[in-house]
Amino acid sequence: MAEHVDFFEAVVTCYPQDADHAPLLQDPAHARVARAGDVADGDLILAAVSLCGTDYFNDQYPAHPQPYDPACQCGVCCHLTQENGAMVVLSNGHPWTTCDPWRADDLVLIVPAARLPDRNATE
Ligand SMILES: [Zn+2]
Repeated sequence: MAEHVDFFEAVVTCYPQDADHAPLLQDPAHARVARAGDVADGDLILAAVSLCGTDYFNDQYPAHPQPYDPACQCGVCCHLTQENGAMVVLSNGHPWTTCDPWRADDLVLIVPAARLPDRNATE
């Protein structure tokens, strides 16, 4: 059963002039940290978050979560069959030609789809 959880607001960036961080300024007030397993279709993925730091993506992309298939032939999924815990695929075919598998417990910085003002204006 789905359970609604509010995460604290994310500290977005100290480097507004840095191209690796500036895309976040598009909608920083709505950025949230979520478990990869809780990402919903249409959420905008901005960065991977871990205790080691935050890895911002140059190209933010909308999530299209799908079940992880260890037998997938995309060339990425098959290398992750030894990962511990559940896996989830957050996108498939965009922006890469391969899948985008994550551990379900990994943290990801997103702008929730429900709060995006105009999805067509983001790209
Ligand atoms: Zn795959």
